[in-house]
Amino acid sequence: MGYQKEAWVTQLEESVNTLEKLQAYVTVSPGEKKGIEEAEKGHVRWGTTPYFASLMDPEDPGCPIRRQIIPSVLEKENRYGVENYLAWKENRLTSETRPDCIARQYHDRIAFLVTDMCAMYCRHCFRKELVVVREVRFRFDIEEGLQWIRDHGEIRDVLVTGGDPFVLSDDKLGWLVAKLREIPHVEMIRFGTRTPIVLPHRITPGLKEVLSGYHRVPIWINTQCNHPGEITEQTARAVYDLLSCGVQVGNQAVLLKGINDDTETFRALHQKLLSIRIRPYYLFYCEPAPGIDHFRTPVEKGAELIRDAIRGHTSGLAQPMYVVATSIGKIMLMPYYSYVEKNDREYTLRNYKGEITTLPNIPD
Ligand SMILES: *Cc1c(COP(=O)(O)O)cnc(C)c1O
Ligand code: SF4
Repeated sequence: MGYQKEAWVTQLEESVNTLEKLQAYVTVSPGEKKGIEEAEKGHVRWGTTPYFASLMDPEDPGCPIRRQIIPSVLEKENRYGVENYLAWKENRLTSETRPDCIARQYHDRIAFLVTDMCAMYCRHCFRKELVVVREVRFRFDIEEGLQWIRDHGEIRDVLVTGGDPFVLSDDKLGWLVAKLREIPHVEMIRFGTRTPIVLPHRITPGLKEVLSGYHRVPIWINTQCNHPGEITEQTARAVYDLLSCGVQVGNQAVLLKGINDDTETFRALHQKLLSIRIRPYYLFYCEPAPGIDHFRTPVEKGAELIRDAIRGHTSGLAQPMYVVATSIGKIMLMPYYSYVEKNDREYTLRNYKGEITTLPNIPD
């Protein structure tokens, strides 16, 4: 009876995370080589699965997938990034004491950080200080986090994240789901995982067993896909398998300069997500974490893209909510163009094409 190692474990073990391994996939440019040397000098994590690496354009260093994977010397620059970003963003400097693994911005829900490992170390990661650069270290004491949730009856929604929680084993995830479901005030469990995109092999029969079945406490998943080139037949299959477990799959894209900030790519991304049954949820403005200035656009860009590429131009289901995540919660940056004016009689409204209409103003 041989024990067969699952493909996803092999994918993680064979992570493309050295110059030598990368050269099997792409012609590494001098700039990329420098970026990798700098990263390695600073003990900065980088790398992805062989599967995701194979989606890179071998000859174009500007390839949108390549730019998310390969470190850049620009990560050393930090004109606009906020120092000690994560501590500020996750309200870790306030008087409320919480375990390291609990990030809180809202009354009824929290982010539960269960690992700092990922299948891919995205260059634009907003938890970069913890996950990629690792100058911030947390204690990932899951028992301690569970106890904190048990002690806080107001928490009805637990968002399990990291890092990427799906790098944990089926047994560990099954145990975590069971423990959360034992807590009477927990009404839903969410996982934030990039594995459907960077490691679709992770959605194994074993994991499906963990996730499936009718239960009082549903499981929701949000993944992160930033470019239509990240979607393959394998992604489609993984998403279908998740849905067949009763698990909805949403997307949280990050607005990335030169990667998905043109109308054509942006529309193709959101249409392709729907074509494989992923519902766009958020478009995140690229947060002011340190060392990712080169990925950031002006704030208006996201709303303009929704106006010019999605709203009215294609299926309404394709439209994500455009937000920026801040220390006081996520803030909507949506269609600033909608309201033109208001008087006692009516509102004047503008659509995606700039056309004007009116709506009666009903007194309260
Ligand atoms: C993003 C986030 C949530 C979930 O926010 P939703 O808008 O409900 O998706 C909860 N807690 C923290 C700390 C978060 O960062
Ligand atoms: S998968 Fe998420 S947590 Fe991991 S590096 Fe990418 S953005 Fe950061």
